[in-house]
Amino acid sequence: MTSISKPIIWKEKERLDGEIVNCMTVILRTRGCSWDRCYMCGYTSDAYPASEEELIQQINYAFEQLENEQVLKIFTSGSFFDDAEVPPKIRAYILERFNQAGLKKLIVESRPEYIAEDKLKEFEGVNLEVGIGLETANDRIRELCINKGFSFDDFKRAATVLRNEGFRVKCYLLLKPPFLAEGEAIEDAIKSVIAAKKYVDVFSLNLTNVQKGTLVERLWRAKLYRPPWLWSAVEVLREAKEAGVEILSDPVAAGKQRGPHNCGKCDEKVARAIRDFSLTQDISLLEGLDCKCLEKWKKAVELEKSSRVPLF
Ligand code: SF4
Ligand SMILES: [Zn+2]
Repeated sequence: MTSISKPIIWKEKERLDGEIVNCMTVILRTRGCSWDRCYMCGYTSDAYPASEEELIQQINYAFEQLENEQVLKIFTSGSFFDDAEVPPKIRAYILERFNQAGLKKLIVESRPEYIAEDKLKEFEGVNLEVGIGLETANDRIRELCINKGFSFDDFKRAATVLRNEGFRVKCYLLLKPPFLAEGEAIEDAIKSVIAAKKYVDVFSLNLTNVQKGTLVERLWRAKLYRPPWLWSAVEVLREAKEAGVEILSDPVAAGKQRGPHNCGKCDEKVARAIRDFSLTQDISLLEGLDCKCLEKWKKAVELEKSSRVPLF
C-alpha cells in the first residue's frame, strides 16, 4: 500500500534556458482536483484526503530525495493554487524548502480560476512556471468533448496575470479528446497552438491515454474511441515548430492499447524520437521516421471524419 507520508517521485531530464538539466517530479497525494469532471481524467483515483501534517511529511520526504537536480516539479493531480487542495500554509512551506534547496526552477500546475495576484506575490523572485490545461483553444470542443468547465478567455486572463507577475506559462494541449476524429484532432491541436501562442512560453502536447473510470474508457471499451496515433503527434509537433513555439510531449503509455500508438512495430522508435525532440527541440529528429503503417494512418486521418468511429 502506498504510504501517505510519501509522494510519488521520479527523476528525469528537463529543459532549462535551452540546456538539458536534471529534474525531480513530485506528485503530492492531495484530496485531488476540486473540479474532477473532465472526460479523460482519472486522477482522482490517486486522491487521498491528506491532512496538513501528512502533506508536510510528503514534502519533507520529497526534499530529502534531491541530489543534483536544478528543476523541481510539484504536481498534485489537481491545482497547486487551489486552497482547498493545497492550503496556503503548505504552499508557503514548499516555497521555503524550495528556496533553501537552491533549486533553479519550480514548475506547478493549476486551473485558471485559482490563479490570482495575491497568491503569486509570495513567489516573487522565483523562477516559476505554471502549467494550465487549456487542452484546446476551441471553447466548443473544450466544453462538449472534454467538459473542462472554463473558457479560453479564462485561460487568457490567468496567463496574463502570471506573465505580469514575471512568471512563465506552460499550456497543456490535449491531442485527441473524445468525439473528435483523428484528422480533426490534429487540426484542433495545430489551431490551438496558433491561437494561444502569444499567451504562452511553452506548450506541452498531452496525448490522450485511456484512464480508469473515465468516459473515455467507456467509449474505448465500446470501440468508439482510439487514442491518437503517434504519427499524429509527430505532425502536430512539426507544425507547432513551424509556428515558432517551444513544444514538449511525453507520450505516456506509448505503444499500449490504452496509450497513443501506431502499429506496434514502430511505436518505440517514434515515441523515443518524440521524447528526444522534446528535450532538444531539434526538429530533424522527427524527420525521416518511417514505417509501413504510415499509409494506414493517412487513411485514418482522411476517412474517420466520415466514419466517426476508429477504423484501425
Ligand atoms: S484534467 Fe485537470 S481539471 Fe480536469 S478533472 Fe483532471 S485534474 Fe481536474
Ligand atoms: Zn508502424
